[in-house]
Amino acid sequence: MAPLNPLEELHRQLSALPRLELQKEAPLHALTRFALGGPAALLLRTADEETLFRALQAIRDYRVPLFILGGGTNLVVSDRGFRGAVISWQAEATERQGPERTADAGIPLQRLVEECLEDGLAGLESLAGIPGTLGGAVFGNAGAYGSTIGERVLEVGTMEAGGPGRWSRAECGFAYRHSRFKSRPGCVLTRVRLRLEPACGKEPREQAEKIIRLRREKFPDDMRCAGSIFKNLLAANLTPDTLAAVPPEIIREGKIPAAWFLEKAGARGLGRGALQVAAYHANLVYNRGGGTAADLAALIRHLKQRVRDLFGLELEEEVRYVGDFPAGESSAPTA
Ligand SMILES: Cc1cc2nc3c(=O)[nH]c(=O)nc-3n(C[C@H](O)[C@H](O)[C@H](O)COP(=O)(O)OP(=O)(O)OC[C@H]3O[C@@H](n4cnc5c(N)ncnc54)[C@H](O)[C@@H]3O)c2cc1C
Repeated sequence: MAPLNPLEELHRQLSALPRLELQKEAPLHALTRFALGGPAALLLRTADEETLFRALQAIRDYRVPLFILGGGTNLVVSDRGFRGAVISWQAEATERQGPERTADAGIPLQRLVEECLEDGLAGLESLAGIPGTLGGAVFGNAGAYGSTIGERVLEVGTMEAGGPGRWSRAECGFAYRHSRFKSRPGCVLTRVRLRLEPACGKEPREQAEKIIRLRREKFPDDMRCAGSIFKNLLAANLTPDTLAAVPPEIIREGKIPAAWFLEKAGARGLGRGALQVAAYHANLVYNRGGGTAADLAALIRHLKQRVRDLFGLELEEEVRYVGDFPAGESSAPTA
């Protein structure tokens, strides 16, 4: 028989687990870079695999919705929060084997980039300054300046309610801002093995430093945002008429910046409540302070509508929605 209050029952059972930090009504605005939205009914933090496994089993058994939180840098949390369990995988250890590096997925990506550069390993420098964790980066195949994390992945270790798993790069199904894990709710990325190469000279470090400087100009450290709101568009998916309107020089690696369409649609500087499209970048929305998820979702809808009206194109969010949103926004899948 299903328990009367699954969240209470789950909390009781989880309280017995060692090496697990449990918090009720945990404010997610404090754990996400957009700094908005309501609380998580239950927040679980652990760096222990056995504990993670048992917690995932309990969450499944009580049929409580689950969301996996990384660094919170690509999320829009509903004003009502998330009425389920949020898991934060906190393990951060790394290990070097020749030109390979294995890292726990909770490590901040930038720390891993820095460690590799310190150890004379090249391959991650283009990703310097992307905020969030390694797990979040692999989940969304984060990338910048022509490289993606997926290109470097050899193997991903996971934990699910059914037990641990190992995924080769081919099995991860990496594509532009995509991995197979997006269609595998309840699957926690725990560890990642990466292929790097010995760095020649100072070039990788200099490149990383230059990228970080550029990023700071675009995204000041205290900016409450999620980087780009929308994914860029694959030229191959556009109609010939739309493609003909796009200046060829802005097409890179077969992609057209969503910012170009947004700019043409007059998005720069638009706002709703405390949410604002940057005056210098049409695909960057930030929270001036005290913003709500409802205003952010409405602004995103409005931007999509403008681009639809002008180009007949459907922009797709890069950010993930957490919790309840009006129909139209697709919440990140939950277990
Ligand atoms: C200023 C700024 C600049 C940015 N620039 C870039 C950029 O250049 N390129 C780019 O690709 N992105 C960029 N982003 C977006 C964001 O930083 C990346 O998507 C990042 O990789 C998300 O990692 P995270 O740990 O913060 O994930 P979160 O935002 O916490 O979560 C994102 C998704 O990943 C899932 N997830 C996280 N960790 C795990 C895990 N261990 N197991 C399973 N699922 C997990 C979550 O469930 C969620 O669905 C930027 C964001 C900001 C704020």
